[in-house]
Amino acid sequence: MIPVFDGHNDLLLRLLDDPARRAEIFLTGEGKGHLDLPRMQAGGFAGGFFAIYLPSPAAHDDPEIEAQMEKPPYALPLSDLIGFDAAILPAVQAAGHLLWMERASAGALKLCRTAAEVAECLKTGTIAAIMHMEGAEAIDESLDALHLFHAAGLRSIGPVWSRPTIFGHGVPFAFPSSPDTGPGLTEAGKRLVAECNRLKIMIDLSHINEKGFDDVARLSDAPLVATHSNAHALCASSRNLTDRQLAMIRETGGMVGLNFAVGFLRPDGRKDDGCGWDPVLRHMDHLLKALGEDHLGFGSDYDGATTPAVIGDVTGLPRLLQALADHGYDRPLLEKIAHGNWLALLRRTFGT
Ligand SMILES: [Zn+2]
Repeated sequence: MIPVFDGHNDLLLRLLDDPARRAEIFLTGEGKGHLDLPRMQAGGFAGGFFAIYLPSPAAHDDPEIEAQMEKPPYALPLSDLIGFDAAILPAVQAAGHLLWMERASAGALKLCRTAAEVAECLKTGTIAAIMHMEGAEAIDESLDALHLFHAAGLRSIGPVWSRPTIFGHGVPFAFPSSPDTGPGLTEAGKRLVAECNRLKIMIDLSHINEKGFDDVARLSDAPLVATHSNAHALCASSRNLTDRQLAMIRETGGMVGLNFAVGFLRPDGRKDDGCGWDPVLRHMDHLLKALGEDHLGFGSDYDGATTPAVIGDVTGLPRLLQALADHGYDRPLLEKIAHGNWLALLRRTFGT
C-alpha cells in the first residue's frame, strides 16, 4: 500500500462540534464522517494538513444551502466576516484538539513542525499532522496571535476561507463562476504574507479570490500552494483554479492537492456523489498536464465535503490509487502524487 499524505481535512471541526466525545470520534472511531485513527491506519493515510476552521454561524449545515448546491447554477452569498474576539476561543480549542490527538494517540500521530519530521513519520508509519489554519480570523492585526499559534505548531495558513477577513477576501461558492470575485489583499494581508514568509509558514490559496491570489504571487517568496482545489477548465466553480493560476503555481515550484468534493469535480458542479471515477481521472490528467508531475498531490477535504461514492471515506484511498494505476499512472508517479510531492514542497517551504 502506498502511503498518502493529504493536503486538507476538517476532522478538527468534528471534534470542535462535539468535544466531550472526542475520544470516541477520533481514537475508537464510530464509522461516521471520513476520518478516525483506525480508518486512517486502514486506508494508508500517512498524514496531512489538519485545519483549524470556524464555521460561519448562519451557514453551518444549513439545509437550504445544501439544496442549492445540489442544483447548479447557484451563487451563494459571501458569509459575513467573523471578528477576532469571536474567533480566537474556538481556534484555540481546535488547536488544542490537535495537541490532544497527538497525546492521546500514544505515538500513532505526531504534530510535525519540520519537513524532516514528516519524512521521519513517513518512514516509521506514524501519522504526520501539520497544523493549518483555514481562514485567518483568529489572527489579530498586530500578528501577535500568528506568533503564538506558530509557537504552538502552526505551519500553514489560508488568509481567508470563503468569506472576508481583515487580510483579504474569499470566493463565494458559485457555479458557474470565475474566481475573480472581489478585491485583493488588504494592507494587513500584505503584512501577513511577509510575516508568514519570515516564519516559514506555508500560505494556502485554496479559498482566496483571484486578485488575492495574484497579490500573494507578487509578494510571497514561497512556492504558491492550493491545498484543496481543482481545475476550473473542467468544473467552473469559483473554488477551482484557472489554467493561468495553475501555470503560476508550477512556475514557483508550488503544489495543488486534488479536492475530492464532488461539487468541485463534476463538470455540472452538482453536489451528487454518483459520478464514478471519470471526473476524478479527468481532473488528475488536466492538473498533471498543467502542473507537471512534481506539483500535484491530494487534498481530500475529508470531513468537509461530499466525496464521490467510489472513494467514500479514508479507507477509499487504496481504491483511488488503484483507479489511477488502472488509468495508466505508474508506481513512481503514484508515489510522487501520494506523498513525495507534498514532502518535497514542505522542504522547499519550511527549509528544514
Ligand atoms: Zn476548504
